[in-house]
Amino acid sequence: MTGAIFYKFMRYFILNKLPGIFLATFLMFFLFPPLNIIADQPIVVVLDPGHGGDNKGALHNGYIEKEMNLIVAKAMKEELEKYEGIVVYLTREDDTIDMNLKERAKFAENKKADFMFSLHFNMSATHMLYGAEVWISAFDDFYAKGHSFGQIQMAAYDDLGLFNRGIKTRLNNSGDDYYGIIRESRKLGINTVLIEHCHLDHVIDEEFYALGDFQLEEFGKLTAASVAKYYQLKSSLLDIDYSDYPVPAVPVPTEVMKQDLSPPDVCYIELMMVNEEAKEAVINLTAEDYDSRILYYGISLDGGISFDTLRPFPAGETELTVTVNLPTGTEISILAAAYNAYDRITQSNIILIDPLTEAEILAEIEEDEEELLDVTEVSLKEFTQELVEMQEQIEKKLNEYHFIIIGIVILMLILIAVIISRVDLLRRLMKS
Ligand SMILES: [Zn+2]
Repeated sequence: MTGAIFYKFMRYFILNKLPGIFLATFLMFFLFPPLNIIADQPIVVVLDPGHGGDNKGALHNGYIEKEMNLIVAKAMKEELEKYEGIVVYLTREDDTIDMNLKERAKFAENKKADFMFSLHFNMSATHMLYGAEVWISAFDDFYAKGHSFGQIQMAAYDDLGLFNRGIKTRLNNSGDDYYGIIRESRKLGINTVLIEHCHLDHVIDEEFYALGDFQLEEFGKLTAASVAKYYQLKSSLLDIDYSDYPVPAVPVPTEVMKQDLSPPDVCYIELMMVNEEAKEAVINLTAEDYDSRILYYGISLDGGISFDTLRPFPAGETELTVTVNLPTGTEISILAAAYNAYDRITQSNIILIDPLTEAEILAEIEEDEEELLDVTEVSLKEFTQELVEMQEQIEKKLNEYHFIIIGIVILMLILIAVIISRVDLLRRLMKS
């Protein structure tokens, strides 16, 4: 009986190829053990606060990058050490030390680092750019791991409300990674990403660090959480368990992941309408970059001499309706500029708008009124002048009549005198 059951069991086992599966699973477990089984050896992470010593990094309005980087790094280390199975080192512990990039890479190698995170704040030459970005190696597994971590970090920035400038690679003229810290550590087999938390020279980003060190420490905590997610760590202290965190899978690229070297391919504008009452123009902006993506767009009203604050161009879109506020009393040349992920710019066509017609009409009415006033004034003057002339003429004529009347009176008097004298003469004649 027992033998029969065993026989049936074995038959089932063989027919269903289960032994092979069991054996394969058994071997897989030993050849590729899950991360937590080999976690006897802790993850080693090196945090590199960028710059230091005389190398202050970016400077703007009293913000000193090397100091900000160190505050972030220290908070990040403190936070990461709350997780189990991780060891954290800082390349520099204070602001007096400067290390060159090779020294930083060597430091990470000496610590047998699994990953190095180089922490920075950004600044642009024009002070017009804002937002966060992660720079990664352009090569094979370094790219894949960097991009996987980058996605977690960028998602955290999105949640915080920082503008997302993306995860990017950049090559130098020799075709190697452009950023020294990434290049030098890759040579030593260490994967490094360079994190630009945001721009220390732009008012849009300033709200994320202007209030004090506690905000910088938030950057440290945020980035620590990204590392913990990436390595699926747990912290009983924080009551956090990321062991099921869905780490983004990035395939190892078969070629070098080059950067976009060309400006945006498309940028043009169309005038949809002008609302004179609201002093607005509505334009349709089409912008596209076939290699990377459009990050921002700017609007100029003076044909490209000056631009307003760059506005985010919605990811995945190629067209956008933009309302532009128009100044009055001046000719307007609307032009748009599209920025790609590498801050390369393409400017659009120009749309000319005459000075607002409303203002024009107003000006015309004023002119007409002035003319009308002029006309009235002129005719009034003429009229009074005519009146005066008429008066003068009447007076002249009256004067003339005076002479005539006086003349007539004198003549009449003479006539009377003559008549009287004749009467006297007649009397005398009659008497004699
Ligand atoms: Zn920096």
